[in-house]
Amino acid sequence: MPWRHAIEKLDGREAVLCDCWIWWGMTDEKGIPVRRTKDGHTTAARAEWEKRVGPIPNGKYLLAVCGRRLCVNPHHRDLVSHREQAFRCGITKLTPGVAETAWQCAQAGMSHRRIAKVFGVSPRTAGRIAKREYPMFDSEERDGNDEL
Ligand SMILES: [Zn+2]
Repeated sequence: MPWRHAIEKLDGREAVLCDCWIWWGMTDEKGIPVRRTKDGHTTAARAEWEKRVGPIPNGKYLLAVCGRRLCVNPHHRDLVSHREQAFRCGITKLTPGVAETAWQCAQAGMSHRRIAKVFGVSPRTAGRIAKREYPMFDSEERDGNDEL
């Protein structure tokens, strides 16, 4: 498996402290580490997980908890459902009506943390709703987060 431990001068001090396994093999067009298998290709993180931890159930995804998509250390991955993944990345979609209600709650003084809990979004998304930066207010806006 073509990965190496994060090296301070290349990846920054934090990478060393968190023990990331930085992939240097093939990546897809989004920069996600991939490797070939006999039936096509899979992400390198999945391959490492399946080798060291076990099979990944259908409908489950590996979220990079260290925030580095090039990291394939299974200890830095959490097995989550698609919805959970969207929630943690702050890309859970609210309908315009619900987002409007959430915004009104923010106007009424409800904390971002509480809005996040009540409406099932991340605190970051709640903050964006409060500032009317949520996609419902501007359909062109895209969230920068990607899976894996
Ligand atoms: Zn990592």
